[in-house]
Amino acid sequence: MSIITIERKVLEKNEAIAAANRKKFKERNIFTMNLVSSPGSGKTSLVERTIAKSKSKIKIAVIEGDVQTDLDAKRVEAFNVPVVQIITSGACHLEANLVRDAFEKFSDNDTELLIIENVGNLVCPATYDLGEDIKVVIASTTEGDDKPLKYPAMFRNSSALIINKIDLLPYVNCSIEQLKRNALAINPSLKIFQTSCTTDEGIDKWIEWLESIVKSR
Ligand code: MG
Ligand code: ZN
Repeated sequence: MSIITIERKVLEKNEAIAAANRKKFKERNIFTMNLVSSPGSGKTSLVERTIAKSKSKIKIAVIEGDVQTDLDAKRVEAFNVPVVQIITSGACHLEANLVRDAFEKFSDNDTELLIIENVGNLVCPATYDLGEDIKVVIASTTEGDDKPLKYPAMFRNSSALIINKIDLLPYVNCSIEQLKRNALAINPSLKIFQTSCTTDEGIDKWIEWLESIVKSR
């Protein structure tokens, strides 16, 4: 019982900070995307492809969340966009206070799209609101087609699903149709994209959608 109470208090505190973040982002007219997935499904690669195609049209800033290392922030920094790395030192998800503190470190005031790359984890990032406008979940073909059934909260709370690594389909045990059915059974309004960050297939459709929602913010 006491464990449940403590967890609820932690979540209530997080929700209050997330609400303040959301208010701040809205006041500054910044669209925020919380990018979630299991480790190794291609979050940073998608961030790289997105920046490469959109940075001439949209001012992008990135917050990178990792348990250890600033390797991903260095990859993103190579594209000459503002980036702040959060190292959680073991914690398996980002919380709203970490995002608040990371956002303070940006000196630019003209950001239009803030991408928050969460820690690779399909469980708790679903329940920790960061103050974002949307969550986008990536499921790669190498993970099989049953992830929406096993981690429903993540797919229920996301606005879009990116099925990544479609170039590997011939080599893996994954049915795209089954994956889509599983995802839509959990969340019928999910917008679904199929991409390969290696071959670039499907990236343009994702970018078109993202740019349209950022512009209509
Ligand atoms: Mg990463
Ligand atoms: Zn966690």
